[in-house]
Amino acid sequence: MRSLGEVIERAVLNAIEVAVTRVPRDVFEAIKSFAQRETNPRARRILSTIIEAIRVAAREGTPLCQDTGYPTFIVRIGNRFPAKALALRAIKRAVAEATKRGILRPNTVDPITNRNTGTNTGPHAPWIEIEMFRGDELEIFFIPRGGGCEGVSKLYTLPPSRGWEELEKAVLQSVIEAGPRPCPPTFVFVGIGATATMATALARKCALRQWSTKPATPLAQLEQKLLNKINTLGIGPMGLGGDTTALDLRIEIGCRHPATFIASIQFSCWALRKSHIVIGRDGSIWLDPNDFWNP
Ligand code: SF4
Repeated sequence: MRSLGEVIERAVLNAIEVAVTRVPRDVFEAIKSFAQRETNPRARRILSTIIEAIRVAAREGTPLCQDTGYPTFIVRIGNRFPAKALALRAIKRAVAEATKRGILRPNTVDPITNRNTGTNTGPHAPWIEIEMFRGDELEIFFIPRGGGCEGVSKLYTLPPSRGWEELEKAVLQSVIEAGPRPCPPTFVFVGIGATATMATALARKCALRQWSTKPATPLAQLEQKLLNKINTLGIGPMGLGGDTTALDLRIEIGCRHPATFIASIQFSCWALRKSHIVIGRDGSIWLDPNDFWNP
């Protein structure tokens, strides 16, 4: 019988493999939906090539992109889940094993020596954001972050009295400056909070949401308005022109300081990869059907 540490390590290894070889179902539906509406013939061809590439990668079990991303996790630990430190060690072991097996490209470089650690592990690598909650389970989200899209992230300290007006300009400016670099069509993530750390963490959480039509709330309507504006810029798939520059824009908000309105703007390429698993204290494993599926 496997120990809980071994169960976690194998489950995370599986989650890593699934995330780098297929996109979640909602992401696939978003790309198909925009492909049907695209009016530019070249953009339509690029979107159908992406759809075909997703199908081939899932069928062959090959990575969606040569950049399998920087390994990033959001881990929610129930207060009654045993072996909390062991769980974090198991995640690191799974990342090293996935790299050894060629599932993950070695993407972790020491910033001083410029030496690749070769294992995707090292100081603060993989990056693991931890949250605690009341419960028995361990919930793990694996979100590999491609360098092309992460490299165009922006942080704005906006004037608090005109925060929302300035946000619109900041979003459009970020998308224009990013151009083709994040491999559009992209998902644009906006986090708003009191501090830079808070805004960045909130923007990251946007990756956990699923693509769907927007509800009639003021924030969702703002998301839709900004998305529509982005899609009039003409950047298009891979920056080669067209209506489809972004597939979604999501905003997560937290209370701000009276003197600050800090906005983090992050991008994901069309390959918004994610896998989500929940492990019970008895070693049972739940796999999110939106992520573990075959296109
Ligand atoms: S931005 Fe995304 S699609 Fe482009 S190279 Fe990076 S991981 Fe691949």
